[in-house]
Amino acid sequence: MSKKRNPYVLSGNKSFCNFCPGYCCYRLPGSSLLLTNDDINRIARYLQVSDGEVRGKYIEHRNTFRTREDGSCIFLAQGKMCKRCLIHEARPKQCREFPYDRPCPYLENEGLMEIIQPRIEESLWAPVAQVSSY
Ligand code: SF4
Ligand code: SF4
Repeated sequence: MSKKRNPYVLSGNKSFCNFCPGYCCYRLPGSSLLLTNDDINRIARYLQVSDGEVRGKYIEHRNTFRTREDGSCIFLAQGKMCKRCLIHEARPKQCREFPYDRPCPYLENEGLMEIIQPRIEESLWAPVAQVSSY
């Protein structure tokens, strides 16, 4: 019997990230983005503020970024045509390394896409937030 073809096998490498609306930038129940002190310091220098200001404004539960109501990371741009990381050059180590030289689990897993895609589509109809207002 032939194996059922997975229609979501799109990403064997990170080049697909350039065409993706950032599924991995939406928080799923039970998942977290772990920030290290080095991450916080790099982001603080990038934003030209203190480490304490980054912690106070953008971090919750001590070591993860705040999220919006739809679960999106506070640093995911809300532009309708631009769902990019606003701190891309200084983004956390975990964001840089994901999906760890493996095919992206979001694109490989139909269930994950189905959870997040409606949130992305809903955000396309929402008023455009100021990109600089993070
Ligand atoms: S890692 Fe996966 S979900 Fe994240 S931007 Fe790349 S393709 Fe999209
Ligand atoms: S810091 Fe950037 S890459 Fe990391 S989850 Fe937030 S928006 Fe996505």
